[in-house]
Formats: sequence, C-alpha cells, structure tokens
Amino acid sequence: MTNPPVTNKALFARGQAVMPGGVNSPVRSFRSVGGTPYFVDNAEGPYVWDVEGNRYIDYVMSYGPGILGHSNVAVIDAIQQAAGRGTSYGAPTLGEIEMAEELCARVPGLEMIRLVSSGTEATMSAIRLARGATGRDKIVKFAGHYHGHADALLAAGGSGVANQGLSGCDGVPANAVADTVVVPWNVVPELDDSVAVLVVEPVPANMGLVPARDGFLQELRAACDANGTLLMFDEVITGFRLARGGATEWFGIQPDIWAFGKVIGGGLPVGAYGASTELMQHIAPLGGVYQAGTLSGNPLATAAGLTQLRLLTPDAYAQLEATATRLQAGLASAFAGAGVTAIVPRVGPLVGLFFTDTQPTNFDEAQAAAENGVYPRFFHQMLDRGIALAPGAYEAMFPSLAHTDQVIDTTIAAAREAAAAL
Ligand SMILES: *Cc1c(COP(=O)(O)O)cnc(C)c1O
Repeated sequence: MTNPPVTNKALFARGQAVMPGGVNSPVRSFRSVGGTPYFVDNAEGPYVWDVEGNRYIDYVMSYGPGILGHSNVAVIDAIQQAAGRGTSYGAPTLGEIEMAEELCARVPGLEMIRLVSSGTEATMSAIRLARGATGRDKIVKFAGHYHGHADALLAAGGSGVANQGLSGCDGVPANAVADTVVVPWNVVPELDDSVAVLVVEPVPANMGLVPARDGFLQELRAACDANGTLLMFDEVITGFRLARGGATEWFGIQPDIWAFGKVIGGGLPVGAYGASTELMQHIAPLGGVYQAGTLSGNPLATAAGLTQLRLLTPDAYAQLEATATRLQAGLASAFAGAGVTAIVPRVGPLVGLFFTDTQPTNFDEAQAAAENGVYPRFFHQMLDRGIALAPGAYEAMFPSLAHTDQVIDTTIAAAREAAAAL
C-alpha cells in the first residue's frame, strides 16, 4: 500500500475527522475567508512552507510571538540547550528569575511577575488578582478588545470571536458574565465603586487596528484613579513589540496590572501577569488569591523567551518600526494606484488594513469595515501570490525583524497585482 500524497486538501479532510474544523484554534480554519488552510511544514525567517512545498512570506507570525522571524538560530539553540537539561521539573529555576527580572527591568512600575502558560491564563488570573485586591466584583471591558477565552472576558470579544460571527459564546452561563460590563471604545466609561478593574488593549489589534484617540488612555487612567478602580493593560500583543518597555513606555502611562504573552515566549507557550510588589502580595503563597500551574515558568519557554527578549534592543525596535512604515506606505500606495478604497493604519510596528475610506474608531465601525466582503478576496489574491496574511479581517499584520526591505517590496509588488485584481 502506498501513502496518499500529502496535500493541504488531504490534511484538511483528515484533520476535520479528528479535530473540530480541522484546527486547534478557530481563526486557522479559513472559515471567514473560505478555502483550504495551508498546513505548515516548516518556517524560517519571514517565510513559511506548506506541506506541498509552497513558500509564503508570512505576516501571521504566530499572531505575534515571532518578532525575530521564524526559527531564529539563537532561540532554537536556547531551546535545545534547555531541553537537554530536562523539560519540566515542578521546582523553581534560575531561568524564571531571569525572565521576571528582564520583564520588570523593561517596564516602569512593574515590580513582580507571575509566569503562566498563555495570554488567556494571564488575563484571567490578572482579573482574579484585581478582584481579590479590591474586594470588588465588576470588570469593565471595551467592545472589540480581545483578552483571551476566559468566560468573563469573552463578551463582545474581537479576533476569532468576532471572526466566527459570535456575539457571545455558547457555554458561558449568564452568571459568568453578569459582572462584566462592555462599553464602546474611545468613550470614557462611567465607573463606580463596584468596578474592580478596567481592562484595555492599549493598542487594540484584535478588531483590526483601532488606536485610541489622542489623550484617551490618560483619561482612562484618571477615571480609574478617581474611582479606586485598577487599570489593566492587556499587553499580550503590545508587550515588547511596541517598544522595549511595551505600551507603558510607548504611551508614558502606567497601569496597575499588566498581562503579557506572545512575544515573551519566543514561540513557546508562555504568559505572565504582574503589578507592583504591594498588589502582588495578594497572590498565593503570599496572599489569598490562588493561582497555579504545572508547566508555569517552563524551562524551555523561559529559555526561548529570555533569548528573544534580549535580542530586542532599541536598534531592533527602530528597525521594526522602519519595516512597518515601509509596509504601510507601500500597501497604501498599491491600493491608491489600483483605485481600491482602503485604510492602512499603523501604530509603531503594528500594521492594520480596512477596506473602507475612514479609520474605524470603535467595534461597530470596525465590524462594518471588516464585513464588507473585500478582505477575503484580497486575502486569496495575496495567498495565490505567496503572501500569507491572517485568514481573518480582524487580525493585525506582524512584520518581523526578518522581514527585510526586499521582502517588504516583494509583498508590495504582490499587493499591487492583488489590488488590481479586485
Ligand atoms: C492573543 C491575545 C490574548 C490571548 O492569548 P492566548 O495566548 O491566545 O491565550 C489575550 N489578549 C490579547 C490582547 C491577545 O492578542
């Protein structure tokens, strides 16, 4: 008997028999853009290769972790060395301390860290800390901001939640979201003394890229201070991508609680939440807020994350921003040249794309722009030309340090053709 040829189609069929939608995370399923997902065989630098040998310039980059580019030699080496000493112990290690020290040294006001295994775990645990520390139950979040898939945070979430056309989520009981208040982005919410925490993506990048209006984050800081409400930055995307010290440095605003993920793991499963020493006294074993994890602070993940963070120097951030600027300008000119109405927003190294004539300022506007049917067509025109954008209109583009000017220019040339084909 000979094996059937390994094709994307064959793997998709095989995957769908044993995994819902053939995937382990919904956006990967191509549901919102149609067609067959490419199954990745390997990746290096700015490229991924699928099982059929097709090469794509990758702007998904694992949705953020791959900030150095794929298969960075130093990161791979660190993982291999760590693996040679064992993969998990259930006892503390030097790597965890170095990781916590690196994060705290970078972010003004961040004094203590607890490592977890995903961004979802980080935000979920940070909410527990906020409630435990304030003795208050309510949380306020913005529509279109995505904070992972914990019950209390799924309401009006961006990213895959928006992408799958879900307004909420089956299986989340009403009482799990009874204390979650969802408010529109770019409007300062009414807070009172029942609100433990205001959760915010400092640069919302899960409803497309929808930056805060000028002064808005300062107004949120002031509103929280006036009410004894903690301000939490969900920096799972912005952390150590926007700047060496994340959004805190970028905006010059200190929240009370931070959640991190993505970049800090170097492509391995890691998240972290942190705050001042005083607030972190509430976390067990010091305080009454319980939170634990068998694989938390995993030695492979801390080795990968620490190696990646140490390569993210001020020069690296300047390069990332220059790359993103080149990409943004090139895409905007490609659309203008083809007479395609589009907005290409950029905040630092993060680039978005809306097929509309005005930059959306909130989730309703972002949804109207994302659901007009143009994105799936552009996505496939680009994929056919060897450029892998995210298979969903609500995701940002993640150019990396491996995306050279030449790679960006190849992308823009493809975008000119793709835009003309629209
Ligand atoms: C990706 C993301 C999360 C969830 O992180 P996971 O590692 O996927 O659980 C939370 N918040 C934001 C802003 C994110 O982009």
